[in-house]
Amino acid sequence: MKCVYATTCLLACSFLLNAQPSLGQSGDKLIQTHVDAARAAAGKDHAFIFGRLCEGPIKAVKASPVTGAVPEALASTDPARQWYAEPSRVFDDLFFLGQTAFSVWGLRTSAGIILVDSIFDYSVEAEVIEGLRKLGIDPAEIRYVIISHAHGDHSGGAGILQQHGARIVMSAADWDLYEAGKDKIKAKRDIVATDGMEIKLGDSKVHVYLTPGHTHGTISTVLPVHENGQAHVAALWGGTLFNFKGTPEDPLDQRLKDYAASAVHFQQVTQAAGADILLSNHTAYDGTTLKLPMLAQRKPGDANPYIIGKDAVHRYLKVAEECAIAAGLVESASH
Ligand SMILES: [Zn+2]
Repeated sequence: MKCVYATTCLLACSFLLNAQPSLGQSGDKLIQTHVDAARAAAGKDHAFIFGRLCEGPIKAVKASPVTGAVPEALASTDPARQWYAEPSRVFDDLFFLGQTAFSVWGLRTSAGIILVDSIFDYSVEAEVIEGLRKLGIDPAEIRYVIISHAHGDHSGGAGILQQHGARIVMSAADWDLYEAGKDKIKAKRDIVATDGMEIKLGDSKVHVYLTPGHTHGTISTVLPVHENGQAHVAALWGGTLFNFKGTPEDPLDQRLKDYAASAVHFQQVTQAAGADILLSNHTAYDGTTLKLPMLAQRKPGDANPYIIGKDAVHRYLKVAEECAIAAGLVESASH
């Protein structure tokens, strides 16, 4: 049972893969243009998101395949719990508290911890609560949990963290989605995120943005972090795959248009914020599966592989935008 969500989230838009409509030459050309734009934006460093999000359009127009494999999950260190990954400090004040394939990020401010995401009900105690203890931090410091979106791999542990005293933040649309779900330990509706909302804790200000697409209430987050005392800004894109189905009331092409518009919105706010670090809530998309092992081997003076620069942050979100447009064109052509 525990693999159900993982499978759902890792199966890239199978409905798009199966649909290979006849698009016509001009339609094909336009889709190809957006696939090419996404491929150029992806470069070598963002091949994983390009491969996942543009998989349907690539097949539809028979574009060149994606190159550059990235491990899909971190290595587990616990044979009895294959999903278990070790907690780790990534910046002075930012911690990885996730499992092998799903991330929880913890920002430690002067007045407590802000988490992004809560992973599953079965793993949150081991990874987040015990993980903080392993790092020498009291889990009672957790103040807020920003849930990027109400799918079980990100919101499943929210009720348990609320029992530990944390305030839970979700968008209105995803509180609705969450409340319709079947979690055994369910968080009570708490803070409702709005676009651009500031969450201030101690000396830190985190901002959340409504970026509908992956769910109707997906939240993306901008976090201030520090590397050897130097200020940096991290951008966390809150929902990635196009693994949603259209309905007459909620058509797929509009959903993909919303997704592309959200990617543009987040490009604008992250550029304005000077974001030079890109984070994901799945360990493959932001290269955590490569970067955490690199950090573990890091020697004094080596660069932090998570600091990728403003251009690379922008290119990641450009891949999301261009693949959403291309997938939308494939979808429109299928009618
Ligand atoms: Zn999801």
